[in-house]
Amino acid sequence: MTATMYYDNDADPSALAGQTVAIIGYGSQGHAHALNLAESGVDVVVGLAPGSKSRALAEEAGLRVMDVGDAVQAADVVMILVPDTAQKAVYDADIAPHLRAGQLLLFAHGFNLRYGRIDPPAVVDVGMVAPKGPGHLVRSVYQAGGGVPALFAVDRDESGTGRPRVLAYARALGCTRAGVLETTFKEETETDLFGEQAVLCGGTAALVKMAFETLVEAGYQPELAYFETMHELKLIVDLMYRGGLNFMRFSVSDTAEYGDYVSGPRLIDDSVRERMRAVLGDIQDGTFADRWVAENETGRHEFERLRAADRDHQIEQVGARLRAQMPFLDPVEVHAGQAQAAATRPGAGR
Ligand code: NAD
Ligand code: MG
Repeated sequence: MTATMYYDNDADPSALAGQTVAIIGYGSQGHAHALNLAESGVDVVVGLAPGSKSRALAEEAGLRVMDVGDAVQAADVVMILVPDTAQKAVYDADIAPHLRAGQLLLFAHGFNLRYGRIDPPAVVDVGMVAPKGPGHLVRSVYQAGGGVPALFAVDRDESGTGRPRVLAYARALGCTRAGVLETTFKEETETDLFGEQAVLCGGTAALVKMAFETLVEAGYQPELAYFETMHELKLIVDLMYRGGLNFMRFSVSDTAEYGDYVSGPRLIDDSVRERMRAVLGDIQDGTFADRWVAENETGRHEFERLRAADRDHQIEQVGARLRAQMPFLDPVEVHAGQAQAAATRPGAGR
């Protein structure tokens, strides 16, 4: 089965002509969506809480800012870009009361719809445009003339204009320059959670940490272990990014390639496959979502404990010292209590 890819020519910008798009939230994704859409000629308004620190930033960027409820009233299309854990509260208080027939409600991730936390009224269209990249890249790649690929979904097209509007939105965001492909809220949510848990965040972080610890525990120098298990990972991933595993294997030595074939599957074996399936099962049956929602409703104690436990890991201390000597990497240091601010600062890591 091959997915249909949609490019600029498959998305008609006129579907958004004369329409106003409200971007709710101005964080990682919010700033990128608001600025890219505005530069693509779409009428944009940013909806923020009255006391939001993002107000000044959005206004400085030349954007029109309103309270969330007013922005929803002023808009034909409403894109919700507040953190997934805050979406239900913002939706219940300031979005739902103002929704009306003909509006298109958009998400950039399916979590709240998939797990039934937000249940939009039948009169609105419901869709998704989920860029497959962090917000600062959605912005900077667009500015450079390119685009970040995205998934899109049309969950409900009550007006009959939902689908063309979703595609026009993806085009204005720059995503159809790279290609967008159609999905459902269910597929996007489950694969997104699985990808970040199994590979992108969870699997990679655990693999790097364990390899670093194994070398250090065996008496090797921590600095060397850092270069070997963390620093070089980017160089390898860059090869995969450009040409897949084949290009990575073409570029490394035959010795490295042979070790890849014989030792990789020895580590990541069928017992890992079984546990990957269990992780996927918890995502599919809602176990993970329930746990994360409950964690947020009870003060995030476990989350903060886990975060603190890893923050000062030896690999982070060694890495910070080494990166400080490599200013050309544009190193970033994240301190306790600051993790959120740094991670969501528009342009962070650029
Ligand atoms: P974020 O944490 O960067 O920013 C959210 C913004 O929402 C804040 O800057 C603030 O302006 C506002 N906000 C925060 N708390 C609020 C509250 N309680 N009430 C009202 N406004 C509040 O969020 P993000 O990472 O841009 O995520 C937004 C959506 O985009 C989520 O659905 C996420 O899953 C999705 N997404 C994110 C990424 C990414 O790389 N960050 C990638 C794809 C999809
Ligand atoms: Mg993702």
